[in-house]
Amino acid sequence: MTSPLLPTYARADVIFEKGEGVWLVARDGQRYLDLGSGIGVNALGYSHPALLAALAEQGGKLWHISNLFQNPQAERLAGRLVDASFADTVFFTNSGAEALECAIKTARKYHSADGHPERYRIITFEGAFHGRTLATIAAGGQQKYLEGFGPKVDGFDQVPFGDWQALAAAIGPQTGGILIEPVQGEGGIRPVPPADLRRLRQIADDNGLLLIFDEVQCGVGRTGKLFAHEWSGIAPDIMAIAKGIGGGFPLGASLATREASKGMTLGTHGTTFGGNPLATAVGNAVLDVILAPGFLESVQEKAGLFRQRLAELKDRYPDVIADVRGEGLMLGLKLKVPNTDFVRKALAHRLVVIAAGDNVVRLLPPLIISEAEIAEAVAGLGAVAETFVTHADAENADERHAG
Ligand SMILES: *Cc1c(COP(=O)(O)O)cnc(C)c1O
Repeated sequence: MTSPLLPTYARADVIFEKGEGVWLVARDGQRYLDLGSGIGVNALGYSHPALLAALAEQGGKLWHISNLFQNPQAERLAGRLVDASFADTVFFTNSGAEALECAIKTARKYHSADGHPERYRIITFEGAFHGRTLATIAAGGQQKYLEGFGPKVDGFDQVPFGDWQALAAAIGPQTGGILIEPVQGEGGIRPVPPADLRRLRQIADDNGLLLIFDEVQCGVGRTGKLFAHEWSGIAPDIMAIAKGIGGGFPLGASLATREASKGMTLGTHGTTFGGNPLATAVGNAVLDVILAPGFLESVQEKAGLFRQRLAELKDRYPDVIADVRGEGLMLGLKLKVPNTDFVRKALAHRLVVIAAGDNVVRLLPPLIISEAEIAEAVAGLGAVAETFVTHADAENADERHAG
């Protein structure tokens, strides 16, 4: 069966028809425990009553009005993001990559407005992922994403993760900013230690650089704080968010301080769909839940439990799981067996997990996952790990036979 969809994805052979909480229900009626959240998007799981209500209410009134008119839903969501963060101003987008594009443009325009248009270069880090537009593949620097798409967009200088000498050497008269994910997602769930984020803030300040965080995956409650960088005590000048903020509705945003956004004046940037009333009504409903007293604390508690149980799993299956890492409910299992095999076998066990770089399996469950569901998840992951042990023993046995 050939699909009319452009074949840029290898889709698993399963059709999900609906979802309830952390569970996905396939067409054949089988229930799958979702530890992927559509890559960190469905932060409140499926069919959350608050999101359904917001969608139905706004859906019955007005979906889209363009950015040529007042938009109270967007004003309210922006105001709440500003109140809850370092930022003074917000630009809404439909995706993470667009939020990054706005962040990058904001940084370049800041230096231009400051009389230094030559300071357009931004330092990024190996293993980073910032999206799939021409600028964001250049920022991410991964050869496999750049290959064949013509000249790489200029203005990005990549240094190895954690190499301070390389970072210092990369800062020149044209450098305008540093862009980093506080927790690398696609790169393999690699948190930047809080002390390193503080050091980056210092380096940025010392060199007149803007510090830009990509919290598209790690933001919006994922780590147990509204934004992952809060664990470090410092703040960026500009930050891109997306994935979780729409709870499954396409929505992203670029947040900035008044100073950092000073170049972004009337007419300098735009979007047709970004922040439309339907998207921002849903975004407000997501924040209603995530900012409710006790919610983020509950994420932290459940994350602690999950991590502890995963560490036990690692001890039980040392030949399968090399390491457990991450922050909050953004967890990674660094494997000693191929992560893609693990993902495939997990699906056969009706468990949805996602592969990441560095041979990691990503666990990004909906933030509403319960302790009982975490226990089910760990049991399921254990069963998947077990299949590798049995398999390896069988192979050894085969080899002994053959020998
Ligand atoms: C997913 C992701 C992006 C890109 O978001 P899209 O919505 O796919 O454009 C950018 N940065 C990070 C850290 C991401 O995880």
